[in-house]
Amino acid sequence: MDKKTIYINYQVYHNKEEMPADLQKVVDAARKSSLNAYAPYSSFRVGAAVLLSNDIVFCGNNQENASYPEGLCAERVTLFAAMANYPQESIKAIAICGNPIHFQLPHPLSPCGACRQVMVEYENKFHHPIQVVMCTMSGECIVVESAKDLLPLQFSSNDLNGK
Ligand SMILES: [Zn+2]
Repeated sequence: MDKKTIYINYQVYHNKEEMPADLQKVVDAARKSSLNAYAPYSSFRVGAAVLLSNDIVFCGNNQENASYPEGLCAERVTLFAAMANYPQESIKAIAICGNPIHFQLPHPLSPCGACRQVMVEYENKFHHPIQVVMCTMSGECIVVESAKDLLPLQFSSNDLNGK
């Protein structure tokens, strides 16, 4: 038996101004997009934005439904819409911003497991890591250099192909 350990590296930016300009752009877009979330049931608004390889920023937000499981997270709304419109552009970065109506988030918002899986799919499609920027409406942001950092030992198409 071998015991192994997985480490991840991440950066903590104390405010948006410390970040590189391209990341500031996606954080701004994600924050703004959270205001358009359709979250009448949870009141937990989330905005997301992706920076594509053609430097277009594409936004989305969570969309809820009276039949609860039919809603979708901001990250997947954004990723699927971006990839539907720009299928040849790889994704450089995704920013995620939690903006609940009834309280202020005490820490940057992390993507759920399902959204991490979808991010890794697009990393594999383009053979390009996606920087994941987790933030609140103001203040601290956490950045990892690849979605794989957030989903170690991930399931992928290699598993389906016996690789
Ligand atoms: Zn999610």
